[in-house]
Amino acid sequence: MTKINLLNYSISALENFFLELGEKPFRATQLLKWIYQLGNRDFATMTNLSQHLRQYLITHCEIAVPEQVEEQIAVDGTKKWLLRLVDGNFIETVYIPEDGRGTLCVSSQVGCPVGCSFCATGFLGFKRNLSLAEIIGQLWFAVHKLSPLKGVRAHAITNVVFMGMGEPLLNYESVIQAVELMLSHSAYGLSKYRVTLSTCGIVPGLRRLRNDSEIAIAISLHAVDDVLRSQLIPINEKFPLTTLMEVCNDYFKDRRRFVTIEYIMLDGINDSLGQARQLAKLLSHGRYKVNLIPGNLTGNDNFRPSRQEQIDSFRGVLLATGINTITRKSRGAEIRAACGQLMAKTI
Ligand code: SAH
Ligand code: SF4
Repeated sequence: MTKINLLNYSISALENFFLELGEKPFRATQLLKWIYQLGNRDFATMTNLSQHLRQYLITHCEIAVPEQVEEQIAVDGTKKWLLRLVDGNFIETVYIPEDGRGTLCVSSQVGCPVGCSFCATGFLGFKRNLSLAEIIGQLWFAVHKLSPLKGVRAHAITNVVFMGMGEPLLNYESVIQAVELMLSHSAYGLSKYRVTLSTCGIVPGLRRLRNDSEIAIAISLHAVDDVLRSQLIPINEKFPLTTLMEVCNDYFKDRRRFVTIEYIMLDGINDSLGQARQLAKLLSHGRYKVNLIPGNLTGNDNFRPSRQEQIDSFRGVLLATGINTITRKSRGAEIRAACGQLMAKTI
């Protein structure tokens, strides 16, 4: 008999599961705490559940997480894990330690259907969406890997970014349920300001997300005109810049919050100072901050990363117009853990 993986249950699904067993819905909260806060996978030791219920869970259920195949650690402390899924597919998850915080970069799909020309994941093509268990399982895995003894109350992960493999808004249901568990005080209790979904600009998904959750968003813009953007990110043909900017300009109901714009810096392609001025103009109708991402080489490259002086001048133009702009540090490039380098190549 195949067991039910309870990591695949959203909070409401778990409540229904207990109701159908004739239990009170608060059993869901108790179980969530065992699984996510205490990192316990052994139903037998869940002492606030009745003997009868524990026995039922032991017989019918399991907590199954993706399994580590390989761990690589960069000199800057960035860790990349290659994880195997039940059907034999592989994904990568990256942990980035910084002063005072730890960020987990999670994957949402095996490969990616968008096929951006500069991205190793896009080059892989698309295999399938990840399940809820496979998304939240990356966090479960990382918390345990990083703080096996502490349980999650004092764990090393303060931030989660959906910037690993895949386009999260093309796997909406599982992603939104994973987000709910990340934020829930019965599960991980992360701040809505510290969970960020990065998207290439799936406009209907953004509209839906805006209604369903208050997490932070980052938009992979990368170009200021439709011709170039469609070359870099083919899905721009479907959701061109005017439509995308319209959703982003008034995305947050809380007007004090900023939408992050990601802008990969590609030498001679999108990094001129004229393009910087156009970008500033494009962003003048909303509240934005900009992350410039030095292009990371992927092995199939048809671009060169911008020169550092060019990145600095480009940034200077944006800063002069009052747009908060940082250059994202490339982390873990020597283990191919940096933005755009994930492809879960098996050993
Ligand atoms: N699919 C989502 C999230 C995953 S990619 C998205 O595209 O936003 C996370 C970030 O890495 C995106 O901003 C993406 O454009 C960027 N990226 C992809 N390939 C890159 C490369 N070779 N160098 C630098 N950044 C890259
Ligand atoms: Fe997919 Fe994002 Fe890579 Fe584009 S950059 S191929 S959307 S993962």
